[in-house]
Amino acid sequence: MNIISAIWASFFCCYVERGSLSFSARSQCDSCNRVLRWFELVPVLSWVMLRGRCRTCRSRIPFRFWLAEVFAFCFPFALPLVFLSLQDWKYRYIYSWQLVFLLFLGLPAHFPYALPVLFLRCGLADRLIIVYLSMILPLAAFPPFLLVASVSGILYILLTKTRKLPFIPFITLAYILVMYFS
Ligand SMILES: [Zn+2]
Repeated sequence: MNIISAIWASFFCCYVERGSLSFSARSQCDSCNRVLRWFELVPVLSWVMLRGRCRTCRSRIPFRFWLAEVFAFCFPFALPLVFLSLQDWKYRYIYSWQLVFLLFLGLPAHFPYALPVLFLRCGLADRLIIVYLSMILPLAAFPPFLLVASVSGILYILLTKTRKLPFIPFITLAYILVMYFS
């Protein structure tokens, strides 16, 4: 889990640096374009062994790459934030849709509860609000909140046979219920 998270982080580094992603292309040095060997691609360790420089052209490998890999290795649950941080660090800009990544922050802890929400295929705004509420709600209140919001939403769909659910009212309902009873 930790190693996979660190590999993802080094993947994100390349993606953010080049602004594009290719699964097939071999990893190469951004300065001299030399294709990197396997031992130069080990997350966390390679940067230390190479002392933060390319083996051939000696150009610097940004310290934030190493930092991102270390953070991702130690805190896999924060991987989406590591990605957003890399992007923000480089461009001082993140797209609003990328905030959806934050939804996955809650998944490891609340996975079974978050699942119905994903099935609802709710809109971007709905998901953003859920993300926001997941941050301000106490941790123990978040699972019941998601459960009430999604179950009431699903019930509404089943009862009215509507195709487009206005989900925010159900989010609000769940939020008020959870806050009232907790
Ligand atoms: Zn190089």
